[in-house]
Amino acid sequence: MKKHIVILGGGFAGIYTAMYLEKRLGKRTDVEVTLINRENYFVFQPLLPEVISGSIEIQHVINPIRRLCPRTNLLMREVESIDLEAKVVTTSPGFRPTPSRVSYDHLVLALGTIMNFSRLPGLQQHGFPFKNLGDALHLRNHIIHVLEEADNERDPELRRALLTFVIAGGGFSGVETAAELNNFVREVARHYKHLDPDEVHIILLHAGDRILPELSEELGRFAEKLLQRRKVEVRFKTRLAGASAEAALLAGGEKIPTKTLVATVPVGPHPLLDALPCKKEKGRIVVNEYLEVPDHPSVWALGDCAWIPDPKTGGGYPPTAQYAVREAKCAAANIRAAIQGGEKKKFSFSALGMDGVLGHRSAVADVLGVKLSGFPAWVLWRAIYWWKLPGFERKFRVGVDWLLDMILPKDIVQVKTGRSESISQEHYEPGEIIFRQGDVGDRVYVLIRGEVEVVRQEAGGERVLAKLGPGDCFGEMALLRDEPRSATIRALSRVDALSIYRRDFEVLTDHVPGMHQIFEQLMLERLSGRTRSTSSSSDG
Ligand SMILES: Cc1cc2nc3c(=O)[nH]c(=O)nc-3n(C[C@H](O)[C@H](O)[C@H](O)COP(=O)(O)OP(=O)(O)OC[C@H]3O[C@@H](n4cnc5c(N)ncnc54)[C@H](O)[C@@H]3O)c2cc1C
Repeated sequence: MKKHIVILGGGFAGIYTAMYLEKRLGKRTDVEVTLINRENYFVFQPLLPEVISGSIEIQHVINPIRRLCPRTNLLMREVESIDLEAKVVTTSPGFRPTPSRVSYDHLVLALGTIMNFSRLPGLQQHGFPFKNLGDALHLRNHIIHVLEEADNERDPELRRALLTFVIAGGGFSGVETAAELNNFVREVARHYKHLDPDEVHIILLHAGDRILPELSEELGRFAEKLLQRRKVEVRFKTRLAGASAEAALLAGGEKIPTKTLVATVPVGPHPLLDALPCKKEKGRIVVNEYLEVPDHPSVWALGDCAWIPDPKTGGGYPPTAQYAVREAKCAAANIRAAIQGGEKKKFSFSALGMDGVLGHRSAVADVLGVKLSGFPAWVLWRAIYWWKLPGFERKFRVGVDWLLDMILPKDIVQVKTGRSESISQEHYEPGEIIFRQGDVGDRVYVLIRGEVEVVRQEAGGERVLAKLGPGDCFGEMALLRDEPRSATIRALSRVDALSIYRRDFEVLTDHVPGMHQIFEQLMLERLSGRTRSTSSSSDG
């Protein structure tokens, strides 16, 4: 009977486990390896921030999994559940609406962690995560979009919000993202006729008292000074508390008006792994020194999702790519030992160094105890990551990208990959305006939570026309009558609303039986001043 090794996750931990297994198992036909990942490519995350500025072409930070591990079966599916008792993994359906069940003899858990935005109000709706390829492309497009808008915006408040970029998280990914974003926005601002790079405001929020806690204090301080010199405002001991359509909300109650909030925190445990009956430490699955999950023989865990005891510190090994690759090597050796007999290896590794890029050809690095900063650190950083990129083809492409980036101006094309209109959720804080009287009617809202008031500006001042609550909708009148908003909608409490763009609203009212009549009726009631649910009359 063939032994079946199933690897869940195609990040650093999963891919390198498959690659090492291919090496160690050679051409054995009695062992089969399957890797399940939601994408058919591997993302080289340390280079992801460079996609924002276009220093690296978006496809060049990814690698096709089939080429990296040609002897591994790839199942490009979403893992939906793991049954450790039955030794079965269930995945999402493919083209046929039936889920598939995959049995295993050995299971490798390498699903990483998730950005847990649900804990902070509004963050899911208005925060930009920064973890995978889609996030990088989405953020780059958004940045170009706000620059385009700011170039033509005359309202100073809105202009300032458009040109304010807030990044939450002072670890590697937050600092590198802030540096790259700062680099890009200031450089391209001069291509916009009405933008002055000095109007750009980049703010890095960090809960601790120094950025890059992964590095020595000296290098952390160097990075801080360098970012400040490049006009990035670094705020220490500042926690993000949420987001709204208008602002980043801070723990002390302060609001920073912005249209771009990138959050690299909070990171949370993967929900699938959280549900497993295994011991966890800070949400990560606890394994022994052989990377095996205690009480579950033949189940292995590594990478960001695993808590691996470090005998030197008494804590766990850090969740970084460098460690994930070494853990993969150890896991592959131990799985082979478990299958064909032999001694298992204990995992032990000390990082050779750490480095982080800070934009404008500078970086900080601590390699084999040697601390470097500025240009030499940047050269070293590029050399290390170029060398670590798997596959010659990607090395070549990234090398060419870096070369071209030194001689050509940055690209400012916004790649529209799909319809930007859709049904989305929005969050507003008390006092924030959802739309103003006179605005163009571009969408309809349905209140999910909270209360809003409908106010009209009249000669004598402001008049409150109605209060609306959960289940009420507003904004339909301007769409149905094709005219500007006739009132302002202001949040009275924390509000979550469904926002339906004009085109989707028209599709619904054209094709869902009775829908058009419901909205027509509602509009007529509102025009005649009659009420519905909590409203005395509504508008917009
Ligand atoms: C912007 C950024 C910069 C970084 N820079 C550095 C750096 O400079 N140096 C460094 O050492 N580390 C860096 N890191 C951290 C490093 O990338 C991670 O530690 C590493 O990627 C962890 O690998 P992993 O395989 O455990 O998890 P991941 O890389 O997160 O991989 C998990 C995989 O599982 C897949 N998956 C998850 N859930 C499912 C599901 N339900 N079904 C199917 N597939 C699923 C995901 O799609 C993904 O492919 C950086 C991270 C980021 C985000």
